[in-house]
Amino acid sequence: MRVLGIETSCDETGVAVYDTAPGAGLLAHAVYSQIALHAEYGGVVPELASRDHVRKLLPLVRQTLAEAGLAPGDLDGVAYTAGPGLVGALLVGAGTARALAWSLDVPAVAVHHMEGHLLAPLMEDNPPDPPFVALLVSGGHTQLVAVEAIGQYRLLGETLDDAAGEAFDKTAKLMGLPYPGGPQLAALAERGTPGAFRFARPMTDRPGLDFSFSGLKTQVLLAWQQSDQGEQTRADIARGFEDAVVDTLAIKCERALDAAGSDTLVIAGGVGANKRLRAKLQEMCARRGGRACFPRPSLCTDNGAMIAFAGALRLEAGQHEDTSVRVTPRWDMATLPPLAAASP
Ligand code: ATP
Ligand code: MG
Ligand code: FE
Repeated sequence: MRVLGIETSCDETGVAVYDTAPGAGLLAHAVYSQIALHAEYGGVVPELASRDHVRKLLPLVRQTLAEAGLAPGDLDGVAYTAGPGLVGALLVGAGTARALAWSLDVPAVAVHHMEGHLLAPLMEDNPPDPPFVALLVSGGHTQLVAVEAIGQYRLLGETLDDAAGEAFDKTAKLMGLPYPGGPQLAALAERGTPGAFRFARPMTDRPGLDFSFSGLKTQVLLAWQQSDQGEQTRADIARGFEDAVVDTLAIKCERALDAAGSDTLVIAGGVGANKRLRAKLQEMCARRGGRACFPRPSLCTDNGAMIAFAGALRLEAGQHEDTSVRVTPRWDMATLPPLAAASP
C-alpha cells in the first residue's frame, strides 16, 4: 500500500510517500521549514503559518511524487495530521488531504501528530516490537508513554510546565541566540567545558515520572546575567544546561523502564536529535541489557514520513475517515483506537 503523508501541524510543511510492500518503505520525503518566516517574531505566528502551508503544500506534494517516481493515481491512501497543533495550519493539511483522497477515490486517515513522532523509530532497520517505553521530547511535549501495542498508549509522566524543546529554545533566546535556538544551543554546548556550570536536575530528588523545566531556564538566566557574557562562558552555560536536561531525561527514562518492567526505550521528537541525549540513553539502556531506538535525526523533527507511516498502519488495519474535514487541535493520545480493534 502506497500512502501519501501530509504534515502541517505547526511551522513545517512535510510530505512523504511510504510503501508498506516488503523491502519498499519510505519512497520519498520532503520538508519545507517556515523558520525564516517566523524568525523576526521570535516564535510561530499562527496565521502566517497557515498561509504559508497553503502556498507550499501542493508544490511539495508534486515534488515528492516526482521524487518517488509516482503519479497521483499510484497512491492507495492519504494520511494527514489532524492534531494536536494549530487549528488553521491543521485545516490546510486536512482539507488538502481529504480533497486529494476524494478525487483519487482512495481512503484518507487522520493521524495524531505525537503518534507519528512515536512510531517514527519503527521505520528504521530492526524496529522494536511493543511493549516498550517511549520518551516523546519535542517542542510542545515531554512525555513518558507505556506503549502496550501500536495504538495503545498509557501516559506515565509528562512535563508540568515547559517541554524539553521549548526549554532549549527559551534558554537559547535568553543567551541571545536566534529562534529557534535549540539546535544552536546544542552546537554551542559542544565547545563548552563540562562542569564549569552546574544546574539542578529538576524533580529527580523525589519519586515520580513528571518533569519541570521552567525553573532550569531561570537558573540559566541568573547565571548568564551574573557572568561576563563572553563566548566561552556562553558555551559553558550551554553545556551545563544541556547536561542538566539530558541527565534529568535519562534518570526519568530509567525509572519509567523500571516501572513498566521493560528494557526497550524508544525516543522520538525534535530533542531526540540531540547527540548527547542519544549517547546517554544508549549507554543507559545498554547497561540494562536493553536498547534505545531512535529515528535518524531528520525524522526526529517534524516530517511527513512519520505521518505517512503511522497512517499506513492504520489504513492497513481498515481505519479511515468519512468525507468531512475535521481537525482536533487538542487531542489526548490515550483516546486513540488500538490498531488491532479495527482489523477485519
Ligand atoms: P510537538 O511535536 O510537540 O507539537 P514540534 O512539532 O514543534 O512540537 P518538533 O519538530 O518535534 O517539535 O521538535 C522541535 C524542537 O526540537 C524544537 O524545540 C527544537 O529546539 C528541538 N531540537 C531540535 N534539534 C535539537 C537538538 N539537536 N538539541 C536540542 N533540541 C533540539
Ligand atoms: Mg517546528
Ligand atoms: Fe512535532
